[in-house]
Amino acid sequence: MNQQTIYDCILIGGGISGSALAYELAKNKLKVLLLEKDNSINSATSLSYGGLPYWAGTNSEISSILTEGINIYRNLSDELDQNIEFQELDLLLTIDNGEDPQKVARQYNQCFHIPELLDIQSACQLEPLLNPQSISGALRASHAHVNPIRVSIAYQNSFKKIAGKIIYEEVTGFLHRENEIEGVVTKSNKYFGSHIIVCAGGLSRSLLESIGIKTEVYFTNDVVLKVSAQNNIRLNTMLMPATIKRFSLESRMSKEDSSWQQIGPEILESIIDIGAVKFQDGSLHLGQISHVITDPHTKFDLNWSQKQIKSGIDRILPSLMDVPFTTHSCLVAFSKDPNRPWMGKVPHWSGIYSFGGFSAGILVAPVLARRFASAIIDNSIDYLS
Ligand SMILES: Cc1cc2nc3c(=O)[nH]c(=O)nc-3n(C[C@H](O)[C@H](O)[C@H](O)COP(=O)(O)OP(=O)(O)OC[C@H]3O[C@@H](n4cnc5c(N)ncnc54)[C@H](O)[C@@H]3O)c2cc1C
Repeated sequence: MNQQTIYDCILIGGGISGSALAYELAKNKLKVLLLEKDNSINSATSLSYGGLPYWAGTNSEISSILTEGINIYRNLSDELDQNIEFQELDLLLTIDNGEDPQKVARQYNQCFHIPELLDIQSACQLEPLLNPQSISGALRASHAHVNPIRVSIAYQNSFKKIAGKIIYEEVTGFLHRENEIEGVVTKSNKYFGSHIIVCAGGLSRSLLESIGIKTEVYFTNDVVLKVSAQNNIRLNTMLMPATIKRFSLESRMSKEDSSWQQIGPEILESIIDIGAVKFQDGSLHLGQISHVITDPHTKFDLNWSQKQIKSGIDRILPSLMDVPFTTHSCLVAFSKDPNRPWMGKVPHWSGIYSFGGFSAGILVAPVLARRFASAIIDNSIDYLS
């Protein structure tokens, strides 16, 4: 009879959260299996801008996580022995021409490093592609940037080198005896483990709810345009709006908890935050529209979103008007309280954990993965609350 392998940890999802955590657990000599459904190019990690807003903490606890995050990134290419395309670069937060620059700037007064307010001329000197007519000013923050796909692959490669195992199969359910989780099921296999850790991004919610676990992790369905590396666009900065509508959408959405019980409808109006970033390989991501559709598997018409992003980009960066692009969508998870990611042990169950729902997931996943791995080893993981 075949001896069934029992893993110390089985992680569901190979975005940046699952990849960083898999590596940190295996580094601590645990026997770890990472299950990823499709090596997706349409995950939040692969469509992300890859910005590292380490300056943006508004309290000492968050600032210490962000500072630890940037310190990890400054050394991560060396630690993983792979190029993650880390670079320090300016973030330009554009202030719309209808907005009062001083008033917008005050929203950032609590930040650990307060961004500098620039007038229209200085903003356009820093980023000559900006349309001066579209803005009333901008804020400049000393930001940093990585290629999130490269970060995830680097973590996964290092994980495999230290005896970690990755299998490309979709988890379709859990093996459990009453409230004790013993493993997971895929279409063709069963895998057994003592700690089952859900790192499935926007799909974490439906996966956990499939066995009756109530979650406080939500998601948007976001649309992003990708421009291939064959272009001669020179973007000096990463661009985002100073008034980010996504944050208020997240806060409104988590208050609509009862609407999340209905499957399907768009429960709030979508929002658009025009942003642009150029990666070191020359490709660009232009975004982003966030839709609130409670069924994660809904297929929606991308044309409308594509047109909205295109017209926003044409207004702010008119020289990108004719650049060819492809349109993509992904789920982006977030938790009820942006300062409290949905990470920890699931109450009333044993053997099951959640790791995700991070705000600024690219920056914080490596730090939180280290902390979570240490807590697994010390058996000191807190319950989700
Ligand atoms: C346009 C855009 C810009 C962004 N910009 C930034 C930024 O500048 N800085 C920043 O810090 N963050 C940014 N983010 C947010 C960041 O990308 C996310 O917080 C982060 O990528 C989340 O990673 P994750 O691994 O938790 O989730 P995901 O990347 O969604 O990964 C989840 C993985 O789980 C897999 N999976 C799901 N279900 C199953 C299953 N049943 N079985 C097996 N596998 C499964 C999926 O295929 C996927 O690969 C941005 C996001 C978007 C969309």
